[in-house]
Amino acid sequence: MKKLLVLLTLLCLASQSFAAEVAGVRLWTAPDHTRLVFDTSGPTEHKVFSLNKPDRLVIDFDGSSLAEGFSAKDVVDRHLKGMRHAVRPDGTLRVVLDLKRAVRPKTFLLKPNQRYGHRLVVDLYPVGATRKPRVAKSTNDIKRARDVVVAVDAGHGGEDPGASGSRFGTKEKIVTLQIAKRLKRLIDAQHGMRAVLTRTGDYYIGLRKRMKLARDHRADLFVSIHADAFRDKRVRGSSVYVLSKRGASSEAARWLAEKENASDLVGGVKLDDKDDVLASVLLDLSQSATQHASIGAAAKVYKELGRVGKVHGRQVHHAGFMVLKSPDIPSMLVETGFISNPGEERNLRDPKYQERMARAIMRGVKNYFAAAAPPGTLLAERPNKTIKHVIVRGDTLSEIADRYQVSLASLRRQNRIRSDNHIQIGQVLVIPGT
Ligand SMILES: [Zn+2]
Repeated sequence: MKKLLVLLTLLCLASQSFAAEVAGVRLWTAPDHTRLVFDTSGPTEHKVFSLNKPDRLVIDFDGSSLAEGFSAKDVVDRHLKGMRHAVRPDGTLRVVLDLKRAVRPKTFLLKPNQRYGHRLVVDLYPVGATRKPRVAKSTNDIKRARDVVVAVDAGHGGEDPGASGSRFGTKEKIVTLQIAKRLKRLIDAQHGMRAVLTRTGDYYIGLRKRMKLARDHRADLFVSIHADAFRDKRVRGSSVYVLSKRGASSEAARWLAEKENASDLVGGVKLDDKDDVLASVLLDLSQSATQHASIGAAAKVYKELGRVGKVHGRQVHHAGFMVLKSPDIPSMLVETGFISNPGEERNLRDPKYQERMARAIMRGVKNYFAAAAPPGTLLAERPNKTIKHVIVRGDTLSEIADRYQVSLASLRRQNRIRSDNHIQIGQVLVIPGT
């Protein structure tokens, strides 16, 4: 009897795995594509094809059914008008996406993680839209001193929520974006500094894409914002990480790096081993200068964070975070706090605390550039650059003083001209205080 029960249970399990249920769908709108994620009870066989007049995308799930309570009400964005479904006689679940324009679809399966089960991801890219990154490079711009550019990277997003708080369930992806936006505003308000955000809404970007965006904008510094969880809820404090060449400098660093790097699975591609070998070669060959700069910048931010609250650890940590591997852009990752700690979770939700955190990071970044501004930037220009004036026929001292908006007396004093105002053609005057 007992054996029969076991057998029946096994049979049920087996039949369930063939007939997958589609339990729900989530929509994420990124600037360059739309992502639909279907939750399925198991790995599903599927086919995708397009129809036109009107534009539709058909997804056939083999031998599947919709779970009770499945709703597709909100599947509407700039690519999508809505979603319909039907079960065909052969048991195929057919989902039809009504489109606003033709799209190029890309699909892949995601394996279960701590938060979600099996998923089918459908990415929709607009057809014919090849979006080129905006890069400022007129000859004028190159000659004129430019702003330093800081790429501010809000960790996680979209299907990848990051860590979550144990008390209020606060999602890391939400607070990282809020702090990143505050940081951008603060940086933009500084003389000679400008920030770009790698993401501006709730959608996922792959780790390599984040690095590429920074490079496309010719960023001088990359700052990734996070608020991760640790298994020990008592652990708290903010911290700053730079890429390590060899192993992580603490257990927490290793733990965090593993979790962060795993988030790239959401992009549908596994981290490519070959790329990692290439990255490590690049690191060895040319990254020591970048590494040095990263450590310098991180130390400044770490110091400012220490003024705001508790910092975790006694110094800047080293860990193998994928997102920090740009060989040519100094990069750091700021853990603004541990969202797993109830007190810090409350802080991280608080607009005032977020602003203080952003302000501390901005000050650290500003201090770094004050000490090491890249050549050709406004910040690299010497504030007391001397301006000289060569006397030509017809010049008078008072007219020169007027032109450079300095007082006649200071002009005289600077150039040791006595009261008779005697100047000669060809004489070089130094303009004071410029
Ligand atoms: Zn994170």
